[in-house]
Amino acid sequence: MSMVSNIKLIDENGLRIDGRKFNELRPIKIEVGVLNRADGSAYIEWGGNKIIVAVYGPREAFPKHTQNPSRAIVNARYNMAAFSVDERKRPGPDRRAIEISKIIGEALESAIFVEQYPRTSIDVYIEVLQADAGTRIAGLTAASVALADAGIPMKDMIVGCASGKVDGNIVLDLNKEEDNYGQADVPLAIIPRTQEVVLLQMDGNLTREEFGQAIEMSKKAALFISNLQKEALLAKYSRPEEKEEVKEEEAEQENHGDDNHE
Ligand code: UDP
Repeated sequence: MSMVSNIKLIDENGLRIDGRKFNELRPIKIEVGVLNRADGSAYIEWGGNKIIVAVYGPREAFPKHTQNPSRAIVNARYNMAAFSVDERKRPGPDRRAIEISKIIGEALESAIFVEQYPRTSIDVYIEVLQADAGTRIAGLTAASVALADAGIPMKDMIVGCASGKVDGNIVLDLNKEEDNYGQADVPLAIIPRTQEVVLLQMDGNLTREEFGQAIEMSKKAALFISNLQKEALLAKYSRPEEKEEVKEEEAEQENHGDDNHE
């Protein structure tokens, strides 16, 4: 977040550099079950962000001394690919990735019924393939969907959005330029069913009133994104019998095809 900027981020028509209005989200697409070897997985495209999440567990926690006899432990690992940003990102965890992993893990833990799985670990791998600001929230939003795909019981799927201040205006869902040259960035994540806030950070400065405005904007957007999460899950799990039938029919047709060659 740079405080010094000559870059104009809002034009004379009140539009942002990518053409959005103040309260407009970037396009979001979520896909469920994209990895065969994970217990649950999800892929999210959110504006210029592309993130894949794999979930493993609950499985026996290893090494053994990490086991908690009364509940599951949640390990989240946020990682940025070397090619995910303009300037090559040095591989391996840096301070930022360690921080983001910690807050995402804690957020997920507050939604999962961890007491149902003593001595186990739930491992969540968040791989950022392309980054364009807002990756912690996009990663967390996809991670919740991957947990649901893994069948892990939760209060609800966590969802979030960031808002911030750009050229003196409170705007929703900052992109990279807005994040870099704007005045504030406030990522927020909630559990929609209980309205609990499970992640809230602030980079930059806002008045109390602006802060309230940013939170309201993000909460409203989060509820919209919550529906996208559910639709993505439904797309994978609705009418599985019919899908199986189609597969069987296809297999049958292929067999007939073979017969014809004989
Ligand atoms: N970024 C980067 N190199 C880094 C870390 C971040 O280019 O080593 C970019 C990336 O596009 C990221 C953005 O800066 O999405 C904003 O990062 P921030 O720490 O605010 O987290 P985010 O908004 O992604 O949750």
